[in-house]
Amino acid sequence: MPIYEYICFDCGSKFELLRSLSEADKEASCSQCYGQVERVVSVCVSFSKDGSGESVPVAGTGSSCGSCGATSCSTCGV
Ligand SMILES: [Zn+2]
Repeated sequence: MPIYEYICFDCGSKFELLRSLSEADKEASCSQCYGQVERVVSVCVSFSKDGSGESVPVAGTGSSCGSCGATSCSTCGV
């Protein structure tokens, strides 16, 4: 599931939200002042099963994005 980073227009605070792709375009508001925010970054976090069967987060480097299926994380969340 991708993590979306937002910056508040009003107070400038940055925060992150973990949202599904279907929620990515929904309205978000500042966690501090409830002002209008802009989505600034999409970070791919994919999960892979390790040997013990636990899901471990894997930074999206090099391989395809597990969240959006794109070949580049730069397209994730667009
Ligand atoms: Zn704010």
